[in-house]
Amino acid sequence: MKTMRSDFPILNQKINGQQMIYLDNAATSQKPQAMINALVKYYQNDNANVHRGIYDLSQRATEQYEQARDKVQTFIHAEKRTEILFTRGTTESLNWLASTYGVDQIKPGDEILLSYMEHHSNIVPWQQLAQRVGANLKYIGLNNDGTLNLADAEQKMTNKTKIVAVTHASNVLGVVNPIKLLAEMAHEHGAIIIADGAQSAPHMAVNVQDMAVDFFVFSGHKMLGPTGIGVLYGKSELLEKMMPAQYGGEMIERVGLHEATFQPIPWRFEAGTPNIAGAIGLGAAIDYLTRIGMADVTKYEHELVTYALSQLKSVPGITVYGPQDSAHHTGVIAFNMSGVHAHDLATALDQEGIEVRAGHHCAQPLMQYLGVAATVRVSFYLYNTREEIDQLIAALKKIKEYFNREFTQFR
Ligand code: PMP
Repeated sequence: MKTMRSDFPILNQKINGQQMIYLDNAATSQKPQAMINALVKYYQNDNANVHRGIYDLSQRATEQYEQARDKVQTFIHAEKRTEILFTRGTTESLNWLASTYGVDQIKPGDEILLSYMEHHSNIVPWQQLAQRVGANLKYIGLNNDGTLNLADAEQKMTNKTKIVAVTHASNVLGVVNPIKLLAEMAHEHGAIIIADGAQSAPHMAVNVQDMAVDFFVFSGHKMLGPTGIGVLYGKSELLEKMMPAQYGGEMIERVGLHEATFQPIPWRFEAGTPNIAGAIGLGAAIDYLTRIGMADVTKYEHELVTYALSQLKSVPGITVYGPQDSAHHTGVIAFNMSGVHAHDLATALDQEGIEVRAGHHCAQPLMQYLGVAATVRVSFYLYNTREEIDQLIAALKKIKEYFNREFTQFR
């Protein structure tokens, strides 16, 4: 795939005197000029509130906002446009599910099945729900290579299981989970399945119908879009039965003094003035990704991660967490360097202009499971290059040598 770095103006800058290498794409991605232009164009030419006005400007804003919904529908292959709800992001989508579907459907003694590789945003809302209604949380274990233990999943799914909420791709281990298989298992037990697509939707073709998920959630900002916009996809028959998470303007049909009736889905769930510009920006990001083709994005990132994993082997003292080879690996690699704390390593890399994440990556239960307090994480996207990986590897070798030297001095 042709890398299109010049489409991303932010990449052309120096950090600590070095050309910046941005490797924290799992946290948030950078933005192409086309997406930035879409935001500017909207605010410069088309800004008005949606759904209310009968005047031209409002109709234009409404059209673009609703077009963004169509783009999301096509992008994830949802059956109906009304199955796409705009939220603030993955976190809000999951909180809505716990506080609406969860509160309505989950009874004392019911079980919610998560996995050990979940992001906090796919743990804490379920903990709160479980505490509130007296339900139990269970966790699917992992195999030694960090992949999901499907035998354990099978064993932990019972007729008490009502919700299975699992990440599609791990934000730490680079693992992609077999959601379709888990969906079949969940449905056999009469449970619904929620897939957290925060780390998959930006990097691979997603087909919610083929995976047979009941709900699928993701964030715009990790896939070239703006912050503050995300998606909650839900099967229409489930959404139809769900209470809204918030009440107010835009979502109502008629309001009396003591009661109100609500709009049909999806608008019933979008109370108040929505993030219009955010949705339009997400639409532009989807256009950009679609022009490249998600299959090519995946293929290119796979080449990068294959190269990075092989090169990391040449750096002394590196432990990679998760699968050691790149088969079914996303562009996320978590690792540690012996004798160097993850935070020191990230700080030293920053001195070289290389921006990486260090810490628990909002996955503390996973860190406990792996028996580590923190890791460094590099995560690639379509604008990263092999040359950047070479520079990362050279920097890691230099840092290792430096710490070895400093360490032996004080022995
Ligand atoms: N789930 C996963 C797997 C993630 O990687 C993230 C973001 N790091 C989230 C959920 C939360 O996304 P957001 O902060 O955009 O709501």
